[in-house]
Amino acid sequence: MDRAIYILLGAPGAGKGTLAAIISKEVDLAHIASGDLFREALSKGTDLGVEAKKYMDKGELVPDQITINMILDRIARPDCDKGLLLDGFPRTLEQAKALDEALAKNGENVTKALLIDVSTEEVVRRLGGRWICRDCQTPYHEVTMRPKVEGTCDKCGGQLYQRDDDKESTVRSRLEVYTKQTKPLIDYYGKIDKLAKVNGEGESEEVAKRLLAVV
Ligand code: ADP
Ligand code: ZN
Repeated sequence: MDRAIYILLGAPGAGKGTLAAIISKEVDLAHIASGDLFREALSKGTDLGVEAKKYMDKGELVPDQITINMILDRIARPDCDKGLLLDGFPRTLEQAKALDEALAKNGENVTKALLIDVSTEEVVRRLGGRWICRDCQTPYHEVTMRPKVEGTCDKCGGQLYQRDDDKESTVRSRLEVYTKQTKPLIDYYGKIDKLAKVNGEGESEEVAKRLLAVV
């Protein structure tokens, strides 16, 4: 298969979800978000979902093997033949290596890892006021991206809620996890010349344009 495989890298709160939605529409890629897959599994009450929740609530990563199996399974489905935009995976070196190995078996490899670069101060500010649509997962923000009607999604009318892992102490541990476990991926993709870094500050439409210029 010669599909494009893009990875979105960035701290929690860098805007991966919002940007991935814009880009996967413009470029017609399957948007695969590991966090959404876990939350979907949980809402269906599957073993995978129940297991994942234990880690998610604490702001910790779900164990590699569980995560890797879930993603490899997902990206083998036919809707991924048109190309992929991975959002939230890989998040550890183990995951990145497992992905490379699985792709290599099909004669494939990662096209590019796109780093959305946002300062820590900005990330903390954004995560603090985040609300998400229960139905379509669109994120909003109390300060930077308010919905037209309070508590209601502009796109689908769904109810907005605040994720447990967006509470303050959990935000702090998610950022620590990012620094320790995910940041090394920047080096990993840099060394194999697959990294594209984009300034992630400013309006999401602007940032999306910067990303589209490199895909
Ligand atoms: P954010 O990008 O805002 O941190 P996500 O929706 O991507 O949120 O992820 C929510 C939670 O799901 C993470 O904090 C983690 O517990 C779990 N998770 C998501 N992706 C992975 C992954 N690749 N490896 C391990 N855990 C993950
Ligand atoms: Zn919605």
